[in-house]
Amino acid sequence: MTPEQITKALRRADTVARRAMAMGRHPFGAVLVAPDGETVLAEQGNIDTVQHAEATLARTAALNWPADYLWQCTLVTTFEPCAMCAGTAYWANIGRVVYGAEESALLALTGDHPENPTLSLPCREVFARGQKRIEVIGPVAEVADEMTATHRGFWARDGAG
Ligand SMILES: [Zn+2]
Repeated sequence: MTPEQITKALRRADTVARRAMAMGRHPFGAVLVAPDGETVLAEQGNIDTVQHAEATLARTAALNWPADYLWQCTLVTTFEPCAMCAGTAYWANIGRVVYGAEESALLALTGDHPENPTLSLPCREVFARGQKRIEVIGPVAEVADEMTATHRGFWARDGAG
């Protein structure tokens, strides 16, 4: 994907995150981008604490496209995927992961919020233990602040999520 395609897809994922938030869910969003780096095949916002946007999207991907095709696709997500989501992307055989802001930036926002006890395990470490080379791009400085802005205030307010 070109830098322009990456920022465009990240902004679309952030739109999905904002939609999830408007539905009363946590503000995370992800999109699956086709091998052309441009076409969005599917999008998914956060559902709940065990159905994160990225893992749910990876499962949808595995249900709808063959593994060799998904190897050429990209999972684009607003924040670095957690160990569960990275693992699901791995098993779905999605060849590339792009994220806007890193997990540590999220931890700084959520603190010890009971609904988001972040797992401090970088997705690159998860993939490094696997048997295939999944490309990881992120954080993307140009949009990281935008991704973070979506979360600003969310985790501090009463009854978040
Ligand atoms: Zn996750």
